[in-house]
Amino acid sequence: MKRRFPIYTVCCGKPLIMDILWTPWRFAYVSTAESGLRPGIPAALAGFAGDLGCVFCNLIAAIDFAIANGMSLEEAEAAGGLIRRGKNCFVCLNAFPYTSGHVMVMPYAHLDRLAALPPETAHELIDTAQLTEKALQSLYHPHGLNFGMNLGQSAGAGVAGHLHLHALPRWTGDTSFITTVAETRVLPEDLPTTWKRMRKVFEELAG
Ligand SMILES: [Zn+2]
Repeated sequence: MKRRFPIYTVCCGKPLIMDILWTPWRFAYVSTAESGLRPGIPAALAGFAGDLGCVFCNLIAAIDFAIANGMSLEEAEAAGGLIRRGKNCFVCLNAFPYTSGHVMVMPYAHLDRLAALPPETAHELIDTAQLTEKALQSLYHPHGLNFGMNLGQSAGAGVAGHLHLHALPRWTGDTSFITTVAETRVLPEDLPTTWKRMRKVFEELAG
């Protein structure tokens, strides 16, 4: 059976109604998310002892804690996959990407609905999404891009409490062959490499 891979209908591993989503590499995320005591905190940033109960809030808090306690900003943000900080929103790597260049744009505020965002934050979210589109286009020259957010668990959100916009480059045929026959995906880049490249292009585009 041919499996299609409708990215725009999934979030963090949960398929909606259209096609079969086959993402075995996501198992690590689901397992970690369910069993991890402090989700969102990479080992390098484990000095942060708190738990805010949210992957994304934990991530930012752990990065800030590391910087406040002597780690360089570059090292801490690299460890957390944090690509860009804006005033109200940030961009970070998806630690379990569907494709190389899979990033997320989100507000710092722990809010679960687009309509709940203050206007300034909502506008910045779209501004940052535009910047992200330019960055992905410039770096990866994809055939297309998926930008999407799933609001609520029933809509497929894996982290339902903290709104996030997935952004990822797509290529014709990127879901076929290897994914179908070998049940795996080929990611030509590791995450530290993606972080370095994305960081640089964001700096060039945004200053
Ligand atoms: Zn949060």
